[in-house]
Amino acid sequence: MNLSNYAADSALTKGRRFNEPVSLGRSNFQRDRDRVLHSSAFRRLMHKTQVFINHEGDLFRTRLTHSLEVSQIARTCARRLFLNEDLTEALCLSHDLGHTPFGHAGQFALNKCMKKIDANSNGFEHNIQSLRIVDLLECKYAEFDGLNLCYETREGILKRCSKTAAKKLGSVAQRFIDGGNPSLEAQLSNLADEIAYNHHDLDDGLRAGLLNFEEVLYIPEAIKHTKIVNKLFPGIDENRRNSEIIRRMINAQVEDLVFATKTSLLHADIKSIEDVRCYSKPLVGFSGYMKENVNQLKRFLHEKMYKHPTVLEMTFVAEDVIKNLFDKMINEKNSYTDSQLLRLVADSIAAMTDRHAATLHEKWFPRKVSWPSPVGFV
Ligand code: MG
Repeated sequence: MNLSNYAADSALTKGRRFNEPVSLGRSNFQRDRDRVLHSSAFRRLMHKTQVFINHEGDLFRTRLTHSLEVSQIARTCARRLFLNEDLTEALCLSHDLGHTPFGHAGQFALNKCMKKIDANSNGFEHNIQSLRIVDLLECKYAEFDGLNLCYETREGILKRCSKTAAKKLGSVAQRFIDGGNPSLEAQLSNLADEIAYNHHDLDDGLRAGLLNFEEVLYIPEAIKHTKIVNKLFPGIDENRRNSEIIRRMINAQVEDLVFATKTSLLHADIKSIEDVRCYSKPLVGFSGYMKENVNQLKRFLHEKMYKHPTVLEMTFVAEDVIKNLFDKMINEKNSYTDSQLLRLVADSIAAMTDRHAATLHEKWFPRKVSWPSPVGFV
């Protein structure tokens, strides 16, 4: 692997929580990537919602396919920037491990339930839960809990964290108290996540018939690529046309990110990962022009897709399901004040897949909720 001097070097890792002999034939970050890939939390992503609930059909994105798309985009950029591809991949594959069933609706409901019982609880946040899974909740090794990943992988998994929560998490969360950046690989994974979901949500929304492509045609990048595709392939069917446009939009963001990041590394005179960590702001990013395009696309999706009546209808049912499961599980534990038990219930619910949660809810509360009809996909 051809690494720049500001990339994360596997041989110079700050180490694992528990010392282990190095692996023969695999670097530390390769080993982390493999451990994530073999975890049960990773397999569960197959049946967890991205935007559409799992009962909707087989042709939309799940958290698993989303994570693979994030990884593809990030690795492409990492190679161009001479960053560590193994660390980048480990981060992308693990970045959504902590999500509850039913996506953000599930997280919102679980957080609210926890805060209601204990206002001082940290509540539920999927980034912190992802770290909790790789540090503690995976139980497959004889000598330690969790996956015993390297510091750099754990640091990158913890994308966001409040100061209060950071104080309880030790050195891996210190930057949320003192300021500073994670590795470039972590910054890159974060933006690759945005590139992936903005575009695949647009694609899923169009194929589900919730969005109309003409509506997105006030964003300069969308206009530009639509003109190119219409000129190259006049009369092409709508699905192929949309795919050709969306793949060009992704490509344009990737090209922009690589160029803008190279420029900012040069301007900031970054020579090492320590320079990256100490720098006053993130170094991986888009140009001003592309940032505005990204924001426009996000605003469009927020308004037209995530707040679409069909999506909202599913969201409200999902919140009810999580709340009912939580209340029943807490009542059974009969211990409202024990913060450890509260966390145990949250861990159990967060680990459920969409269909596990829906099936359990139907068993405990027959016909109490009614899921909206699935949307059709083309
Ligand atoms: Mg994601």
